[in-house]
Amino acid sequence: MPKAIVIGAGIGGLAVAIRLAAKGYAVQVFDKNNHLGGKLNEFKENGFRFDTGPSLFTMPAYFEDLFTAAGKNLVDYLPYKLLDASCTYFYPDHASFKFYRDELKLKEALGAELQTDLPAVKSYLNSAKKLYDTAGKLFVEKSLHQRSTYFSKQALKALPHLLSPKNLSTLHRKNKANFKNKKWVQLFDRYATYNGSSPYKTPAMMAVIPHLEHNIGTFFPQGGMYGIVKAMETLALELGVEFQLNQQVEEIIIKNKNAVGVVVANTKYMADKVISNMDIALTYKYLLKNEKYFLKEDKKERSSSGLVFYWGMKDVFPQLSLHNILFSEAYKLEFNEIFSHGKVPLDPTIYINISSKESPDDAPPKNENWFVMINTPAGIDLNDVQIAQIKEKIILAIERGLKVEISSKIIVEKILTPKDIQINTLGYKGALYGTASNSLLSSFKRHSNFSKLYKNLYFVGGTVHPGGGIPLCLNSAKIVADTL
Ligand code: FAD
Repeated sequence: MPKAIVIGAGIGGLAVAIRLAAKGYAVQVFDKNNHLGGKLNEFKENGFRFDTGPSLFTMPAYFEDLFTAAGKNLVDYLPYKLLDASCTYFYPDHASFKFYRDELKLKEALGAELQTDLPAVKSYLNSAKKLYDTAGKLFVEKSLHQRSTYFSKQALKALPHLLSPKNLSTLHRKNKANFKNKKWVQLFDRYATYNGSSPYKTPAMMAVIPHLEHNIGTFFPQGGMYGIVKAMETLALELGVEFQLNQQVEEIIIKNKNAVGVVVANTKYMADKVISNMDIALTYKYLLKNEKYFLKEDKKERSSSGLVFYWGMKDVFPQLSLHNILFSEAYKLEFNEIFSHGKVPLDPTIYINISSKESPDDAPPKNENWFVMINTPAGIDLNDVQIAQIKEKIILAIERGLKVEISSKIIVEKILTPKDIQINTLGYKGALYGTASNSLLSSFKRHSNFSKLYKNLYFVGGTVHPGGGIPLCLNSAKIVADTL
């Protein structure tokens, strides 16, 4: 039986372990942490349960594909449901609405001001679907580092869309051309943050993301986001995957330009294939001791990072739903501060996720578990005074936006800083999604899923092609399994 070693049990590492085990490999996974899932983790405190990282579940089809590859049915491991609304939006002028799937309900929720653009929203989502089906899929499901991708029928079909001037523009310009109302522009601009980028720089191709959320849908997995990790763990164990926790890989052993194993705590573990789920920049720096290639990765712009407050709230807030956004007043300034000035925005957009809305056991009765996040630059080191100031600002903005007092309601608090993200999962500079997609060529510059230096060495996860976020990490694992 051929043997594969996977370095890291993030979503990408778990997915590739499952795919390789299903292909007949004996798979051993090492993770430096005492838990699986990497950034997708959970903690419990005083009756509250919090998912620590990803909170949005889209594209279950990619999970279905993974479980099918192992001859299993996803819902037997991870029951999940389609939600009737994706998000509740709050604007600085106190306008707010819930983005329902149902058109009539949405129309009712919008109010006169936003209803005017509803036909434009419909046509935008229809063209997002077309763009995804013709060009988007190519970017996320295929390797961009193999000639065969470019000479496929799919690539020929995608080409006119990729070269169309409206798709060569930025996401913001595209949105401005599509909607009269600034609120819709801001709403659709926000999808740039789904891979940690700026709408004023990221290509208009990112307009495919709303298709995934609004046409296909927003879902909620049983057990919250960590339910995903538990389901993957169960399947991996059934397939015979062996997990070695609290074990940090120190080196990838190279012999005659071949990856042949890893070193963990001075012990050598040999394998036919080595797959790194560690951040690609740090894989070069620490595991391959290759400073030149580390510097090459280091030059690429990082995606945004985040500052998260996990608050146990001693009350319920009916105006909020599972996903909520409180928009900032000056959106362009916010992204300039993050990407051009390396600063935490003075007036940040605030995201509040409350899993207890869908999973009541995640909080004591008449309480809620709030995950409150703002985007920050990657690599920023915030001290306690700065964090306290930001917290005060966030509380004021929420109180202003929701017209309720919240500070006295916070009974549990934990904080995750960009530095924590870096330390917890060895994510370079605490970037949430690896490298940013702030230019037309970002997708092509992202690192490949296989090594061009060494045979039998592969890469999965959010820092390599096709990029960060759960659906893309799953695709990186599929590309590796197909390539290998
Ligand atoms: P990671 O999660 O980065 O895990 C890597 C693993 O490798 C870790 O477990 C680490 O301990 C281990 N490791 C590293 N080096 C070694 C070594 N040398 N030896 C052994 N083990 C090692 N994505 C979404 O899709 N939706 C969201 O809503 C969303 N929100 C987010 C919110 C936050 C706060 C964060 C932090 C991220 C969010 N993301 C979201 C991004 C998403 O979490 C990541 O893109 C994805 O989880 C990355 O998975 P990965 O496979 O790259 O591995």
